[in-house]
Amino acid sequence: MKQKTNAQVVIAGGGPTGLMLAAELRLGGVEVVVLERYARRTGESRAYGIQARTAEVLDQRGILDRFAGKVHGNGDFVHFSGIFMPIGDYPTRHPYVMGIPQSEIEPVLQEWAIELGATIRRSAEVIGLERTEDGVSVQVNGPDGDEWLHADYVVGCDGGRSIIRKLAGIGFPGTDATLAAIQGIVKLDNPPAGRIWGPQGRTDAGNFIVAPFPDGQHMVMVTEYDKVVDRDVEVTIEDLRAVCVRVAGHDFGMHSAAWVSRYADAARQAETYRDGRVLLAGDAAHIHYPAGGQGLNLGIQDAVNLGWKLAAVIRREASDELLDTYHTERFPYAERVLQATRAQTVLGRPGSHSEALRDVFAQLTKVDEVNRYFVGMFTQLDIQYAVGEGSPLLGRRIPDLDLKTDSGDTRVFRLLETARPLLLDFTSGGAAIPAGWSDRVEHVLVSAADTVWNLPGAGKIPAPVGVLVRPDGYVAWVATDSSDLDSLRAALTTWFGPAS
Ligand SMILES: Cc1cc2nc3c(=O)[nH]c(=O)nc-3n(C[C@H](O)[C@H](O)[C@H](O)COP(=O)(O)OP(=O)(O)OC[C@H]3O[C@@H](n4cnc5c(N)ncnc54)[C@H](O)[C@@H]3O)c2cc1C
Repeated sequence: MKQKTNAQVVIAGGGPTGLMLAAELRLGGVEVVVLERYARRTGESRAYGIQARTAEVLDQRGILDRFAGKVHGNGDFVHFSGIFMPIGDYPTRHPYVMGIPQSEIEPVLQEWAIELGATIRRSAEVIGLERTEDGVSVQVNGPDGDEWLHADYVVGCDGGRSIIRKLAGIGFPGTDATLAAIQGIVKLDNPPAGRIWGPQGRTDAGNFIVAPFPDGQHMVMVTEYDKVVDRDVEVTIEDLRAVCVRVAGHDFGMHSAAWVSRYADAARQAETYRDGRVLLAGDAAHIHYPAGGQGLNLGIQDAVNLGWKLAAVIRREASDELLDTYHTERFPYAERVLQATRAQTVLGRPGSHSEALRDVFAQLTKVDEVNRYFVGMFTQLDIQYAVGEGSPLLGRRIPDLDLKTDSGDTRVFRLLETARPLLLDFTSGGAAIPAGWSDRVEHVLVSAADTVWNLPGAGKIPAPVGVLVRPDGYVAWVATDSSDLDSLRAALTTWFGPAS
């Protein structure tokens, strides 16, 4: 018997990934319900940074300004295990890391998702999952007891211990923890002047970070190596104090903890991000040590890659195979982050051999190409999906160029706010939309734009005459001299479905 569908997509977990995905799906016209086990936001703030590509993605949806009043300073560098590398003139409008606590990021995403029409149910814990012929059923425990919700697809955005991943039987292979770390937001009676980070926070017993946090608080993070602690064991400010004394030599007069939590360096990745109608995103799909500030940013990028694809499949425009590209495109970039964090824990260890390795590494980062390699990786601006061969633009994010169009001056990201495919035509009609796709693709005639484009990871290239841009901002087709309509039709079919 066919069950009643409660939503086209159910998202388990209302953290940054789930909220971003909910908004992206609403932009694609999909009915979405987010199930979040907690009654209210916990106020926990593990992450403290929005990387450049995430800032771009928020800009291309028109919501970057909403974060403005909440930013507590921008950093002009990325770091590898506390070895700092300037972002410098890396080609983006956002060459910085926005210092903003996760607790301030989530409410903005939630408000946006609700504004777009997403339903967010709190005190709703997912406890069961069943695949049906035409969808997925999810068992939810809430204030009124248990119930089943039926959806076309379910996406597990329910964090590193994802129940969706476990119930779907998706493996989570990787490497175990080798260290123990505690993070706390506390008040300090004797705070250090400014911030202690990187080389200053290294001692023979481990390493630590002390950084000012909003509302007169401080964030304290301390790591000890070759010691693994069960993360389920309760952690208090006394544990943080003790480890801080062991590693830093004193406790900075800490008291009044807003919260304290344990973390470690287990690095694991779901063996597949998609199993039929069950998908995984964010920490549910990958966990790793937070070195380099990547996890939340990866989750947001997962959501933006998946949202438009899932919406196009649900609208029956694109074929189901489009969803497989979510795994093939996103898996390698999380894999790269996992490897980089494993390497950073080796560099982070105390001892003269680590110091020697850090010294060699620091020298290498002074080589311009090495610096740019790491900046590309940590800002996540160098991503190039395997979209096709030919132009270096293919599969890369479209730069946010200033444009002159018939409707006035604009820039590329303003044209991506509605998350619709975009055909930019620099030839006065040479790259017109073939019949059958005009209902799905925005066609914009550009009368003037930069003639040379500077691409992160690829350098300067001559401007193309036409580009097809996916809703996530990545280039799906390029015409370098005259428009090849056959290849344009092929790209339109691959990414947005056959002509109607
Ligand atoms: C110390 C530390 C520092 C970090 N610093 C950074 C940083 O600077 N930059 C960065 O990018 N990342 C950082 N991270 C990583 C970042 O915090 C995570 O990657 C990010 O929170 C992942 O978001 P998510 O939405 O995928 O998962 P989560 O934030 O874990 O959200 C999952 C949500 O699902 C809910 N949930 C779980 N189970 C269920 C269920 N059964 N039913 C319903 N709901 C459920 C949870 O309550 C939660 O709200 C840091 C992490 C740590 C530990």
